[in-house]
Amino acid sequence: MNTETLNSVFIDIELDEPTTPDPELAKKLEEVCTVGIFKATEDGTEIVRGQLDECVLCYLCEQAAPEGTLRIIKKYEN
Ligand code: SF4
Repeated sequence: MNTETLNSVFIDIELDEPTTPDPELAKKLEEVCTVGIFKATEDGTEIVRGQLDECVLCYLCEQAAPEGTLRIIKKYEN
């Protein structure tokens, strides 16, 4: 059991600007992410910042987005 280590992992997500308004992608991202980090809005994909530390690093979002447009950036405390 090492939940403390897990909790100290903090990530950020970058989605390229031209990809953000794509409504299809927004829906897809909302669907694949089981922890609610993506929200499909009328402006496209919204990244729900408050949910970021729920990320389980499954990389389904990265796979769902056009290659190279979505990046998961791992940040670690310390
Ligand atoms: S890696 Fe998985 S959990 Fe993390 S944001 Fe992407 S889809 Fe969601």
